[in-house]
Amino acid sequence: REKMRKRMESGDPWFSLEFFPPRTASGAVNLISRHVSILPSPLYLRSMLKCASAHRFDRMGSGGPLFIDITWHPAGDPGSNKETSSMMIASTAVNYCGLESVLHLTCSNQSQETITGYLTKAKQLGLKNIMALRGDPLGTDWEDEEEGFNYATDLVKHIRSEFDDYFDICVAGYPTGHPEAQSYAEDLQHLKEKVDAGADFIITQLFFRADTFLKFLRDCRAIGITVPILPGVFPIQGYQSLRQLVKLSKLEVPEEIMEVIEPIKDNDAAIRSYGIHQAVEMCRVLLDSGAVPGLHFYTLNREVATTEVLRQLGLWIEDPRRPLPWATSANPKRKV
Ligand code: FAD
Repeated sequence: REKMRKRMESGDPWFSLEFFPPRTASGAVNLISRHVSILPSPLYLRSMLKCASAHRFDRMGSGGPLFIDITWHPAGDPGSNKETSSMMIASTAVNYCGLESVLHLTCSNQSQETITGYLTKAKQLGLKNIMALRGDPLGTDWEDEEEGFNYATDLVKHIRSEFDDYFDICVAGYPTGHPEAQSYAEDLQHLKEKVDAGADFIITQLFFRADTFLKFLRDCRAIGITVPILPGVFPIQGYQSLRQLVKLSKLEVPEEIMEVIEPIKDNDAAIRSYGIHQAVEMCRVLLDSGAVPGLHFYTLNREVATTEVLRQLGLWIEDPRRPLPWATSANPKRKV
């Protein structure tokens, strides 16, 4: 974690990658790693490895991300011992693939006991970083509760009060304001409350123009938010996935992008190629601004577009012989 902090603040640009937990056990194997196959039985995943042909964490981990993060379902982490749960994916990434991991955790509709239980388990599994989120409330009859978690700030406070400084905490920022917020300015104040409550860094919602992020960054600094703010980059990979994502996030795609995309909407290869170009151009402006410590990518569990963007930006460090953590831990010069 110390290493992560140092690199985050080193001035050298870096990147991080978001994944979501796969729905099936074979999807989990596909996502994780060939390294798991060498673990002794009866560790989870072991039995499924024979069917594994491709391992995204291995391939994307070899490019040198500072960390990967795993999203969380607002209903909780059902069957949290299953291979497909967020907790297990994140813990496998950190313990067996040697990747620093950030586990997302949402708190709305959850009791303090449940949340403490998740955090205790995360700690037992060796996880050290939590992305503290409110999440979207389940159902429509949700109301503020005196004892409950109403906002992400409540979760940040809870983590700090129950676990002191054990976890590094990340929170979400919204460059155009959260869709439910009364105003952009008010949303920024609530972001500051999350940081003041103990958050260590911020990852933003995706956006489509570099200016949108740079203005947000300036506005955050102006009200005294001093922690690292990572721009959330989403390389457009297909027409339908873009529409789905913007609907979910209640975002608007700028006209200049829609004008390019509409005529090629049935041509996946052309859309992906445009998405890569658009993301590279935007990231170059962000990096050239000198104000951005690193770039955070929404991968949608796909690797081609993100990898290509990183290669074009010169951020991809190809190192297929990246050692496993236990292989290096005996060597003080190369401690992970
Ligand atoms: P909050 O920070 O609590 O803000 C929610 C709203 O409440 C905002 O409008 C804010 O302005 C307002 N607010 C905050 N404090 C107060 C207050 N004291 N009084 C009045 N209003 C207040 N969702 C998932 O389900 N799983 C994930 O893994 C996930 N990962 C995400 C990762 C990133 C980087 C981002 C940007 C979003 C992610 N989300 C995820 C979506 C997120 O859960 C939703 O956007 C959710 O609606 C808000 O969560 P939050 O933590 O930003 O909430």
